[in-house]
Amino acid sequence: MRLRKIGVLVIVCVLATTASAQQPQSLFELINLEYPGLEAVKEHVEAHDFDKASQALLDYYRNRTSFQNPEVNPSDKHDFKGKKLEASTLEKADKGLKHQFFVHKGYGFFDYGDTINWQHWPVKDNEVRWQLHRMYWWIPMGQAYWSTGDEKYAEEWVWQMRDWIKDNPRGLSKENDRFAWRQLETARRVQDQTNLFNYFIDSPHFTPEFLVEFLTNYQAHAERIREKYSEKGNHLLFEAQRMIYGGGFFPEFINAAVWRKEGIDILNTEITKQVYADGLQFELSLNYHVAAINIFLKAYHMAQLCNMADEFPQSYVNTVENMIMATVNTSFPDHGYPMFSDAKKESARNMMKNYKQWLKVFPENEVIRYYATKGKEGQLPAHLSKGLTNGGFYTFRNGWDKKSTVMVLKASPPAFWHSQPDNGTFELWVKGRNFMPDAGCYVYGGDAEIMKLRNWYRQTKVHQTLTLDNQDIKVDAKLINWSASPHLDELSYINPSYDDLSHQRSVFFVNKSFFVIVDQAIGDATGTIDLHYQLVEGEPIVNKKKNWVTTDFSDGNNLFLQCFSNKSLKMVEEAGKVSYAYRREKERPAFAFQQEKKNNEAVKYITVIYPFQGHQSPKVKASFKVVDHEEQVEVIVNGETVVLDI
Ligand code: CA
Repeated sequence: MRLRKIGVLVIVCVLATTASAQQPQSLFELINLEYPGLEAVKEHVEAHDFDKASQALLDYYRNRTSFQNPEVNPSDKHDFKGKKLEASTLEKADKGLKHQFFVHKGYGFFDYGDTINWQHWPVKDNEVRWQLHRMYWWIPMGQAYWSTGDEKYAEEWVWQMRDWIKDNPRGLSKENDRFAWRQLETARRVQDQTNLFNYFIDSPHFTPEFLVEFLTNYQAHAERIREKYSEKGNHLLFEAQRMIYGGGFFPEFINAAVWRKEGIDILNTEITKQVYADGLQFELSLNYHVAAINIFLKAYHMAQLCNMADEFPQSYVNTVENMIMATVNTSFPDHGYPMFSDAKKESARNMMKNYKQWLKVFPENEVIRYYATKGKEGQLPAHLSKGLTNGGFYTFRNGWDKKSTVMVLKASPPAFWHSQPDNGTFELWVKGRNFMPDAGCYVYGGDAEIMKLRNWYRQTKVHQTLTLDNQDIKVDAKLINWSASPHLDELSYINPSYDDLSHQRSVFFVNKSFFVIVDQAIGDATGTIDLHYQLVEGEPIVNKKKNWVTTDFSDGNNLFLQCFSNKSLKMVEEAGKVSYAYRREKERPAFAFQQEKKNNEAVKYITVIYPFQGHQSPKVKASFKVVDHEEQVEVIVNGETVVLDI
């Protein structure tokens, strides 16, 4: 009800502003002329001298010291002079001058022509067209301007801003609105233009007339977001955070307080909806999980700068801390985390930056301190293995350092767009090597050709899990048991993979040393059952007769995998690929262990996954047993017997 009311108000407001967008007087109707410091502006407006009012407003902004931007402030300019920029930053700025725009890191630079064709779509990947409108080269141009003092950057930026405003009015076409005015991109500009404003405000090219155009456009941006926030997910979080940025940075707008308040209210509501009690963000893709942490904290920081932090309750801050601990629990010792769903490989460098930022908000959290200081201060968690049982991420861990073995497995409730039909899948990291990385995602949405590329990576059968006739599964795992102890960690869950077939998986981490996975396909369905496993790139040694594969890395850090069943098994090689970054892919070994399911009898597997040092793989036997009517699994590794209840 509340939103609907706002919608009506906004439409009135947008009509009023677009009708005379280029007239300075319409801007001054949007500004609170009673705002401290705007006395001269008010005087000129009242005298209907809008040129002088625009000049007075520019003078006000050039001298404004009352507000600190969390990222870039005019006071930083002096220190920035002569600073050597990273080559990649300078390249974005300099090619940006020539309209060769860096629109997406999966593709690099595209030429948009002398006059800039903002509708140019060189690769029919939606992200290319969307992300053009985030102008990734503008902040590099701002940095290059500060570093060199060369006015060419300011002159060109002002020209490009005006060109964008001229060529992308709302309602130009349905298609253009879909890309140029999508809420996520609009919100990104609301955020980045606070920084750009600070980079260029002192340039002689930043004229009073340009200020009027800039601010009129800015107001239209914030109101466009308010008109229709995204329904849910990380997009809504980004939009809310950036409304707080806009309302905080430009408190002179009459609507600024409403922008801030709406942003804060949305985040307070969404944090309770989007974060499970175990700290996982409900899209269940760890890069969006980390992004959500940063959104919540950025918003909180901005609210602190606006003296509005107490509008976030303590529970908000506690939830963010819990989210950080969920990140710690699902991370490998090199700070990487699984590439489940749409996640890409994260660098240790980026994660270190995150932990350093997070420590500023949580200085008393010893674990965050440990990560932020590379172990020089603080301490590691007291526990090892950890089940995040609401979101369904389970970590088997025998240590926190680089010599450790860590498996993270996903057995989750349904999630949405960014998630994949992959329950049961896992990554296994041992002593610095991720032996079984997730395939990743390779690309997001686009035309049919792009969707085909994307969909290859979404298939259930390219994950470490079980399929019927290689069809995708439904995702809705129910936990049966999770327990952790020094001798045995155990996870057991069941997933209703198909209408007439459930997949029950039990994972045992035996003596914190090796894994036994027991899979059962239960139900009336008949067809071909495949148990799929994929390995890191490399040339493994394969024994199809005995259903085993082992890596053979020369450093001696190796992994052995063997599959057993009570019926005959066929080991087949499959197409294997892994994508660590957008539009980058590599081939890798992949296998399936097949059996035919001919009736309602369950199909069963035992898989032993054994990390070892050297080149002599272990001797393994495994079988199903029934003792006193209880079903058990007996595993013998190098002569030592382990019996597990299933
Ligand atoms: Ca995946």
